[in-house]
Amino acid sequence: MIRVLIVLVAWNFAGLSNAADADDLIISRPGNLPIILTAPHGGQQAVPGAFVRTRGTMVADTNTLELAEGLANRLRSTLGAEPYVVAARFSRKYIDANRAEVDAIESADLKPMYWAYHNRISAYLLEIRQKFPGGALLVDIHGQGAERRVVHRGTRNGMTVAKLIQKHGVAALVGPNSIFGFLQHRGFDVFPPNGPLNAPPEDRRFNGGHTVFTYGGKNAESVDAIQIEVGIYLRTDAGFIDSLADGIALFYKNYLASVP
Ligand SMILES: [Zn+2]
Repeated sequence: MIRVLIVLVAWNFAGLSNAADADDLIISRPGNLPIILTAPHGGQQAVPGAFVRTRGTMVADTNTLELAEGLANRLRSTLGAEPYVVAARFSRKYIDANRAEVDAIESADLKPMYWAYHNRISAYLLEIRQKFPGGALLVDIHGQGAERRVVHRGTRNGMTVAKLIQKHGVAALVGPNSIFGFLQHRGFDVFPPNGPLNAPPEDRRFNGGHTVFTYGGKNAESVDAIQIEVGIYLRTDAGFIDSLADGIALFYKNYLASVP
């Protein structure tokens, strides 16, 4: 009898803690714009009961959760509408949400958390595609420390924004009403410099990981997806955060809002 009770208590405890963990360790919020902000590497929290990974990149993209929230706030105040948000609070030391499962985790116990992150993105994208048939943008937010005041663009050299380019031309990626065109206009260093695609190509270190590759540009279900790698000095710069949000808003008005 005692043994049965212990098993029941243990089972209940495990069930409750698993259910609570995903909500504690992943920020996910629906919006009412055809824009989803994702941030896989800004989390600092341990996953209870899990071990630190033994291989892969462990370093957090510091302040990128705050950056994602700052962008959402600015979009709310300028457009009066909200982007969708999915961001990991869990640390990359346990789960690298911007990798395929095989490289993201080292323990089957972490599968539910890994998939909770991606299933929330998929569910929001399904909703966005139904509500906004004119197109949608996923912005995957990262940080890099190699070039501290530079913003790198990652689209696998256009592949993850194939639909956008097909519909509106390269100007939607590098022109004056694009996100990177606007950042450059505001005086920020962007790489590649805005110009013809692949001249020069995107930096291989930052040219688009699992998230933009999975959700961007491949098939009928895809949206357009851009990885943005923000230099470490810019991530806490309020002027930069507002400018990036304003660039996203400008892009929205030109390429998403008015498009049938
Ligand atoms: Zn990253």
